[in-house]
Amino acid sequence: MSKRQAATAYGEVIDAISRFLASPPEGTPHEIIQAFDLLGDNSFLPPKLFLETVEQAPVAISITDPNARILYANSAFEKLTGYSRDDVIGKNQSMLSSKSTPMAIYQDLWKTINEGKVWRGTLVNNRKGGDEYLAELSISPVLNSDGRIAYYLGMHRDITELHALEQRLAFQKKLTEAALDAAPMVVAMIDGDGTLLLDNHAYKALIGDLGEEPLRLFLDALRQQIGLDLSHVCGVGEGFTNVEVRLEARGAQSPRWFSCSGVRIVDLNDEARSFFQTGEEAERCCLLLIANEITESRNRIVEARLNMIRANMAEQQMVQTMREAISASLFKLQAPINIIKAAMSMSGSGGDCSNMGPVLRQALDTGEEAIESLHNALPGPRTEQTANVNMNELLHEVLRLSTDSLLAAGVVVDWRAASVLPSLTGRPNALRGLLKYLIDNSVQALNESGRDYREMRLETREENDEVLIAVMDNGMGIPETAILKAFEPFYCGWADSRGHAGMGLTMAQEVAISHGGSIEIDRHFVGGCRVFVRLPYESGAGGAP
Ligand code: FAD
Repeated sequence: MSKRQAATAYGEVIDAISRFLASPPEGTPHEIIQAFDLLGDNSFLPPKLFLETVEQAPVAISITDPNARILYANSAFEKLTGYSRDDVIGKNQSMLSSKSTPMAIYQDLWKTINEGKVWRGTLVNNRKGGDEYLAELSISPVLNSDGRIAYYLGMHRDITELHALEQRLAFQKKLTEAALDAAPMVVAMIDGDGTLLLDNHAYKALIGDLGEEPLRLFLDALRQQIGLDLSHVCGVGEGFTNVEVRLEARGAQSPRWFSCSGVRIVDLNDEARSFFQTGEEAERCCLLLIANEITESRNRIVEARLNMIRANMAEQQMVQTMREAISASLFKLQAPINIIKAAMSMSGSGGDCSNMGPVLRQALDTGEEAIESLHNALPGPRTEQTANVNMNELLHEVLRLSTDSLLAAGVVVDWRAASVLPSLTGRPNALRGLLKYLIDNSVQALNESGRDYREMRLETREENDEVLIAVMDNGMGIPETAILKAFEPFYCGWADSRGHAGMGLTMAQEVAISHGGSIEIDRHFVGGCRVFVRLPYESGAGGAP
C-alpha cells in the first residue's frame, strides 16, 4: 500500500467509525459500541489512539464501502482469516465465503443492512489456507450526513469450537435421553426444591395412568416410608435403595407399587458467580430417582397371602362351628341330666318314683358319659402368636375375602379408613375372625332387610389411645331389647337362622376382651346397626383364644 493510499484508508476508517459512533444504528450490539467507544466521549480521543484501539480489538473488525469492498481490516481479522491486509483491501467480503452458506442467508443479510438495520448471524467462511470456520458476524450500516449508507462495519469471531462443543453436548444429551427413554423403569431427576429437571418416557406414561404428577406422589410416599427430606439428601445426605412405596392416585383404578432408589448426583454449577468458587460451593446437587414397578409381583404376593388367610379362616371357621355345635349339644344335654338328677333326689327322699331308681341311675350314667365324650371331642382353643397388626390392613384383607358375598348381596361399601393408624399387638387370625364375623352379620342384616339400597360403612380412627373400628349398615338393625341378649351364647335373632349357632358375637366379644378391648352395639344408631370395636394399642393380647 502506498503512503497516499494508506492516508486515505486511515481517513476513511476514522470517518466510518466516528459516524458510526455519532449515531449507532438501532440494534447495534452493545459490545460493538463499547469496542469503539472506549473512552466515552470519542471527540476527545486522538484519532491515532482511536485507530489503535480498533486495531488492538480482540474481534475481527472490517470496514467496507456500500458494496462490501473492504477498506480496512484490523489485526484480529488478519489473524483469524489468515489474509494480510494487503490481500484483502479493495476486495469484496465475498472472498471469505466458503459457498456452504445458503444463498437465502446472504439475501436476508443484504436486505437487512440495505434497510439500515443491523444484521447478526452465522456464516461459513474460508481461511486463506482453505479450511472452513464458523463466523458469528454482525454488520452495522454507517450513514453519511445525507442519511445514505456510507460504510458497513463488520465484526466477527470464530465460533467453530463452540459449535462443535454444542453439537457434542446435544449429541450426549440425545444419547442420554434415548437411553433413559428406552429404560423400562421410571427415571426422574429432581433438585432440592422438588423441581423436576429431567424425566423419561416411563415417567410421562405414568402421568397419563395416574392422572396427576407422579413426582409429588413419590415424594409423599417416600417421606412417609423413610422420612425422606429432599433438601437434606440433596445437601449432605445419602441416597436410598429399594424402598417399596405404594402410589394411590385419584385417577388410578388400584394402587401401584414401586421399588424406589435415589442417587445423589453432584452437578457442577454453571452460574457465572460460581467461577471462583471451589468444592461444595460450586456444586449443585440433585436426586436421581429410579422407580421400578413391582405392582404385578406385589399383587401376586398379596393374592398368595390372601389365599393363605382364606384357608386359615376356613379352618378356623370349621373348628368354630364344631365348638359351637358341641357346646350347644352339651348345653342341651345338661337339661335332661339335671331333670334326672332332680328325679333321683326326689326318689331318694321317698317320692313315687322309688322303683325307678336303677333306671334313672343308668340314664344318668349314660348321659354323663355322653357329656364326657362330648367334652373330649370339643376342639381345644387354637393358640396363636401375637404380632404387630394394623387394623386397616386386616380390615382391607377381610373385605377382599368377603368380596363375593358383598357383590352377591349388592352391598355398596363406604371405606373410611384413617390414613394413618397406630399398630397394635394382637393375634391377627383371631382379629380377622372378629372383623369377618361383623361384616358377615352386616351382609345378612342387609339381605334380611330387603332394602333396595344396601350400604355398609367401615370406619377406623384413633381415639383415646385406642384403635376404633366402626362397622355400620343400613339393614334392619337390632331392637333395643335384644342388644344385650345378642352377646349371650346361643342367642339367634336372625329370621333365617340356618348355619347360626348363636355363638358369633360371643366369640367376637371374647376376642376383643382378650385384646384388652371391647365390642359394643350402638343403641342410639338409627336406620340400621352400628357396632364399635375398641382395641388399645398397648393391649397384651393375652394367651386366650
Ligand atoms: P453475492 O452475489 O455477493 O451475493 C449473494 C446475494 O446477496 C445476491 O444474490 C444478492 O441478493 C445479495 N447481494 C449481494 N450484494 C448485494 C448488494 N450490494 N446489495 C444488495 N444485495 C446484495 N460474506 C461471507 O461469506 N463472509 C463474511 O465474512 C462476510 N462479511 C461481510 C461483511 C460486511 C461488512 C458485508 C457488507 C458483507 C459481508 N459478507 C460476507 C457478504 C458478502 O459481501 C457476499 O454478499 C457473500 O459472501 C456472498 O457472496 P457471493 O459472491 O456468493 O454472492
